[in-house]
Amino acid sequence: MAYSFLTHLQCPRCHREHDADRVHNLCDCGSPLLARYDLPAVKNQLTPTDLTDRVGSLWRYHELLPVRAEHHVVSLGEGMTPLVPLTRTGESMGLPRLVMKDEGLIPTGTFKARGAAVGVSRAVELGVGAIAMPTNGNAGAAWATYAARAGIGSLIVMPEDAPAITRAECAVAGAELYLVRGLISDAGKMVGRAVADSAGRYFDASTLKEPYRLEGKKTMGLELAEQLGWRCPDVILYPTGGGVGLIGIHKALTELQELGWISGELPRLVAVQASGCAPIVRAFAAGARSAEPWPNAQTVAFGITVPKALGDFLILDALYATHGSAIAVDDADLLREQRRCAQVDGVFMCPEGAATLAAARRLRSTGWLKDTDEVVVLNTGTGLIYPETVTVTASTLDIGDPLPLS
Ligand SMILES: *Cc1c(COP(=O)(O)O)cnc(C)c1O
Ligand SMILES: [Zn+2]
Repeated sequence: MAYSFLTHLQCPRCHREHDADRVHNLCDCGSPLLARYDLPAVKNQLTPTDLTDRVGSLWRYHELLPVRAEHHVVSLGEGMTPLVPLTRTGESMGLPRLVMKDEGLIPTGTFKARGAAVGVSRAVELGVGAIAMPTNGNAGAAWATYAARAGIGSLIVMPEDAPAITRAECAVAGAELYLVRGLISDAGKMVGRAVADSAGRYFDASTLKEPYRLEGKKTMGLELAEQLGWRCPDVILYPTGGGVGLIGIHKALTELQELGWISGELPRLVAVQASGCAPIVRAFAAGARSAEPWPNAQTVAFGITVPKALGDFLILDALYATHGSAIAVDDADLLREQRRCAQVDGVFMCPEGAATLAAARRLRSTGWLKDTDEVVVLNTGTGLIYPETVTVTASTLDIGDPLPLS
């Protein structure tokens, strides 16, 4: 049986088909491309129980991933992150069935490792010698790490305000790193120019400009369904920047429906953004099919500071198709949730993940979420890489001083 059932790439906008075995960026019409698989063949040859004894990483779903030969897989054991009930946090907001999928336990500390593992593996398979990308930090760290493991080069450009640890991750992995006094969109333009001038030396691996990062991220949806015994929760809340994870989860669940591995309604998908950068929320509220760029974007949840997403129409389509929603939360609220969750449930979430808790609390208070709803929030990374989001109050003592216990 084939390792991958990838057949072709398809444009979701103009529906043109493209050869999957050549390197591709965008469709000629400017849209991202989506990987398509021979799902009827997968359905004939594979059942959910065949997966039971497989490796505990996202590669257990290799038939639904684009890498054709197993020896091209570049892996650090990413995937199969736990589903953790947030019992006390859930009780505090009237959601007794609140569960977190914890992407903080993945190599490099964020779910970006999923996109990097699959994107780099496939790039290597197609003969790419070096990748280039703009990043808000976490994607660059992940791609630099997997590029190092694959033995290919990486060129990373990030805002100088991006979390400092991600610079260190790029540097230690040997990436060619540049900081820009600007936003990810500015970094993107600079990467685009550098790639164009490089005479094919670099492959542009920007968000959704190549089709396979999405395939890696979609495994969050595959895992979620498998971990729930091949069924879906009622609602999924996702901290949305470029929206790749949300589009990916929707794609995964749609593929599982086609395989007949899940049935019934898809979960309502909710895009959570920060009030300081909420282009998708604004577009959703207007019933629009695409989003306008957000001026002066700013939030502590750095990973979701994306003023204009290339896949905006795919995000919005997924929200409308699942009767979902989009909601913006203030930095103060998400920071409060980050602290509360660590204190009552013992999970130090990243600020982006904590934003989904602030959103859940609001959606419960407006009645959009019911106390019977099974709600899954994606904690897209560990709080450990965002030490600056926590204010520490501790007194420094001299040796032998009595502890002034409170
Ligand atoms: C990149 C990132 C996001 C947003 O991811 P998209 O799938 O591009 O919307 C959310 N959280 C963290 C921690 C990130 O690094
Ligand atoms: Zn097209």
